[in-house]
Amino acid sequence: MAEPRDPIADLKRIAFLLEAGQEPSYRVRAFRGAAATVAELGVEPLAEHARGGSLRELPGIGEVTERTILESLRGEEPVYLRRLEATGGTPLAEGAALLRAALKGDCHAHTEASDGGSSIREMADAAMELGHEYLAITDHSPRLTVANGLSPERLRGQLDEIEALNRELAPFRILTGIEVDINEDGTLDQEPDLLARLDVVVGSVHSMLRSEERAMTVRMVTALANPHLDILGHCTGRMKTGKRTRPPSAFDPELVFAAAARFDKAIEVNSRPERLDPPKRLLRLAVEADCRVSIDTDAHAPGQLAWLGNGCDRAFLCGITPPRIVNAMPADELLAWTRSHEA
Ligand SMILES: [Zn+2]
Ligand SMILES: [Zn+2]
Repeated sequence: MAEPRDPIADLKRIAFLLEAGQEPSYRVRAFRGAAATVAELGVEPLAEHARGGSLRELPGIGEVTERTILESLRGEEPVYLRRLEATGGTPLAEGAALLRAALKGDCHAHTEASDGGSSIREMADAAMELGHEYLAITDHSPRLTVANGLSPERLRGQLDEIEALNRELAPFRILTGIEVDINEDGTLDQEPDLLARLDVVVGSVHSMLRSEERAMTVRMVTALANPHLDILGHCTGRMKTGKRTRPPSAFDPELVFAAAARFDKAIEVNSRPERLDPPKRLLRLAVEADCRVSIDTDAHAPGQLAWLGNGCDRAFLCGITPPRIVNAMPADELLAWTRSHEA
């Protein structure tokens, strides 16, 4: 028989890894509670209960913790612990920091031209301060009038402004872009020729968020098939906090993510605290579908450009590594990728 392990250490280690993985706190408490019970009881009486099959009579010991203790006492690494070590072995902070360090820029940011609070220059300065190599300016499109979406003329003017700034700020690069509304029929709310000129096109659903699942799925897949779209922004549209909380939109994630993978588009990991979109369950599905992702801030002010860590936390928890992240690429590679969609 193998040497018995220390059940207390195993239970506590599981609680730690659950916490590191931001799992629900009731689950963490179950393992810490069981560890406390075992510590109070002592090892011999515990082994006695194990032999007599009466572990579950002890306070705070349930089915899963009982199994963990029995495995421990038999000298086996508990299955629950082994699974956690395989996926969550790296502490969250460390894993997320490695992803954050791999990011070279941000593909979703707004300026005062639409509903942001600052100029392009101020946003670029903040991005440089954060060590970014590039920042895409992606203001809203015409039909989002509440956000002062840019007409084709205003967007053309912005392209000239960016060109001039880029001469001044090189080697830093401001990438031209848009957060274009995905219309109800899946078309994009800006002139195709103008979209073709932009470095980065983020496409997002901002209207009819409560459409039925089938219509929303067709709408999103149609947009992903559009050669101009590069990144699908905040795909569920949920709002977790604030005045206007709202549930995620209904769509078939497997179809949508399969389309994104097929057309080599990226799913955005939106870092805004009120969005944190997509939810982790969906982000894991996107990874399983082999989608690229873009970890973006959707900043509407300079300080918000620092929010990338939120997205990195979640990306790490969902098993995302740098080769999957489009904004871990240097600007030239990123642009080669966005241009590959237009071919
Ligand atoms: Zn906005
Ligand atoms: Zn948006």
